[in-house]
Amino acid sequence: MTLDKRPKYRRILLKLSGEALVGKGEHGIDSRVIQEIAQELSTLNKANIEIGLVIGGGNIFRGVGLATAGIDRVTADHMGMLATVMNALALQNSLDQLNIASRVMSAIRINQVCEDYIRRRAVRHLEKGRIVIFAAGTGNPFFTTDTAASLRAIEIEAELLVKATKVNGIYSSDPFTNPTARFFPQLTYDQVIEHKLGVMDATAIIMCRDHTLPIRVFDFHKTGDLLRITQGENIGTLVTSE
Ligand code: UDP
Repeated sequence: MTLDKRPKYRRILLKLSGEALVGKGEHGIDSRVIQEIAQELSTLNKANIEIGLVIGGGNIFRGVGLATAGIDRVTADHMGMLATVMNALALQNSLDQLNIASRVMSAIRINQVCEDYIRRRAVRHLEKGRIVIFAAGTGNPFFTTDTAASLRAIEIEAELLVKATKVNGIYSSDPFTNPTARFFPQLTYDQVIEHKLGVMDATAIIMCRDHTLPIRVFDFHKTGDLLRITQGENIGTLVTSE
């Protein structure tokens, strides 16, 4: 892997679902998987790419699921947001072990555990080469961490929102269950919304569209692809206004 190519993107926002941390289990955090993620992030960090990261909580709690089980929806969403903080702390711990400086910034105030989210401070951390992990989503119930990713990406003026998934981009339907699913190398925001392609929720896509923030969807399991994306390689699916 080469680190000497000039990056196309200097500041990115990576959205990782909670599911990405599960590994072979069904719930929780697989320490081996989280170490691999930290390793991948450290490669980017060493290539001087500024990385903001929004992490989901679906491996622990999702508000909708808890609400179905009888918990009040707002309380359930608070639990979901706190789950994202746990994931963020786990990832920070793995980055610490690699001597990569990072900060967890929470949208819900729990400042004995991590920093509060303050935009200017987040940008300063990025400029100093620290990875910033944005936890607790938007801080509001009824939103998702996809929307938090769009919001934070726009706020920190990221040049690209990178959404990590289990497959190598956007398909017409789930390629795991439908072998005839069609792969799309490039799409517009409106096509994603119109065809309900389900890669991110509509609120998240619309925010990106309204602020012309490009999205790249890729398979996080392919080591080195994230770095190649920042160098401008055409990997996965690109979503833009054209
Ligand atoms: N959540 C929320 N507001 C936000 C972001 C997240 O209430 O701004 C809650 C919501 O209950 C959600 C849970 O946190 O289900 C975990 O986030 P998400 O489902 O987006 O995680 P992912 O699917 O990416 O793992």
